[in-house]
Amino acid sequence: MLNNRQQALETIHTQIWTCTRCPLHVGRTHAVPGDGPVDATLMFIGEAPGFHEDQQGIPFVGAAGKFLNELLQKAGIDRGVVYITNVIKCRPPGNREPLIEEVAVCTPYLDQQIEIINPQVIVTLGRHSMNRAFPDEKISIVHGQPRKVNDRVYFPMYHPAAALHQPSLRSTVEADFDRLRALLGGTLIPEEFTPPPAVEQLSLF
Ligand code: URA
Repeated sequence: MLNNRQQALETIHTQIWTCTRCPLHVGRTHAVPGDGPVDATLMFIGEAPGFHEDQQGIPFVGAAGKFLNELLQKAGIDRGVVYITNVIKCRPPGNREPLIEEVAVCTPYLDQQIEIINPQVIVTLGRHSMNRAFPDEKISIVHGQPRKVNDRVYFPMYHPAAALHQPSLRSTVEADFDRLRALLGGTLIPEEFTPPPAVEQLSLF
C-alpha cells in the first residue's frame, strides 16, 4: 500500500520534472516537485521556488528555507518527517509572484500530491498558498488560526520570507509556530470551518 503511494508520488514528481504546461519551464534549471515522505502527516505549502531551490531542485533551501528550518527546530518538528512543496513548481523570473495562469496549470499537481499524501495538517505559507483553501480571507487576520475542513486541518501562516523582509513579523511567525506545536500536541483545538459556497454557485443568478 505504502509502495503504491510512493510510486504514485514519484510518478507526479517525474511529471513535474518534465512539465511544459506553462512558459516557466523555459527558464528553469530544475522544477521543484516537493520533498519528504509519502506518509507525512504534516505538509507545508509555500509559494514558488526561488533561486536556490531552482538550482538544487529542492524546496526551501535558500534564506527562507533556513528560517523555516530554524522555526521547525524550535517547534520540535523534524523536517525529515514533513512533506514540503509549493503552489507552483518552477521559479518565476526575478522571484515575481505567481500569475493566475501559472497557478491554474500547476494546481492539479498540488491536488494530486495532497490526495496521495493525505496529510492530517496542512500549513499554508503565505497568501498564495492560503488562497487555495481560503480564497476570501486575509492572512493578516487568519494567520495562526487552525481550521478543520472536513477531516483535515489547515493552518495559515505568513511566509517565512515575509518575516525576513519585515522584521516586525518575525515574532508573529514565531508565535504561530508555537501555536502549531500546540495544535500538534493536542492543546490547541481547531475551529470547525464550513467553506462558503463556491463563486460559480453564487454567480448562477
Ligand atoms: N519560497 C517558497 O515559497 N518556496 C520555496 O521553496 C522557497 C522560497
